[in-house]
Amino acid sequence: MTTVTEKIAVEKKVLSENDRVAAGLRERLRKNGVYCINIISSPGAGKTSLLERTLARFRPEERVAVLTGDIATDNDARRMARFGFPVKQICTGGSCHVDAKMVERALDDWDLSTLDLLIIENVGNLVCPASYDLGEDEKVVVLSTTEGDDKPLKYPGTFFRATTLVINKIDLLPYVPFNIEAVRENARKINPNIEILELSCTTGEGLDTWCAWLEKGVLA
Ligand code: MG
Ligand code: ZN
Repeated sequence: MTTVTEKIAVEKKVLSENDRVAAGLRERLRKNGVYCINIISSPGAGKTSLLERTLARFRPEERVAVLTGDIATDNDARRMARFGFPVKQICTGGSCHVDAKMVERALDDWDLSTLDLLIIENVGNLVCPASYDLGEDEKVVVLSTTEGDDKPLKYPGTFFRATTLVINKIDLLPYVPFNIEAVRENARKINPNIEILELSCTTGEGLDTWCAWLEKGVLA
C-alpha cells in the first residue's frame, strides 16, 4: 500500500516534470509572439459555446488556433472546426486535466509562427487543471449562473491562479438562485486582482467586452 507521504512525493515529481515542460512551451510561445490562454471550468459552464461564439466573430485572417481537451470524444473539436481555424482535440484518455506534455505533443506539427493567439480549452473540472501549468499567459475560469455562487470559495486554488473570471449564462439570472454580487465578492476574497467579465453565449451580451479582452492580450 502506498503511504500518504509516498503519494505526495509522486505528485510533486509529476508536477515538477510538468513545470519543466511548461517552461519550454512558454519560451516557444514567447519566441513566436503567441498569446496563450488556458480556459478552466466545471463541465457544462459553456467553455466550448464561448469559443464557438468567439471564433464566429473572428475575421478569416485572424491567426488563432484552439486545442480542446476532453477525457473522451472529439465532439468539441468537430464543433469548433466549422469556423475554419486550426482546431485539435486533446484526448486525455481518462486524465481529468490537460498537462504540458499533451500540449507539447498537440503542437508538434503546428508552426507557431503562423499564430497570434492559442486558446486551450481544459477538461471540465475545477480541481486539478489549475495545478498544471501549460505555458499559458493567463488562466481564465468560466463559471455559469446555473452553478453555486460559492464556487470561488470551494475551489480557491483555481480562482487564485486565474487572472480572469468569466461569468456565463447571465441571461438566466432572473430564473436561477445565483447571486452575482456574492460571486464577485467571493472571487475577490480569494483573488483581489481577478478581472471579472459577464456574458451570455445565448444572447451575445458581453461578447464584445470578451473579444476586446482577448485582443488586449494579443496586442500586449
Ligand atoms: Mg467543451
Ligand atoms: Zn486531473
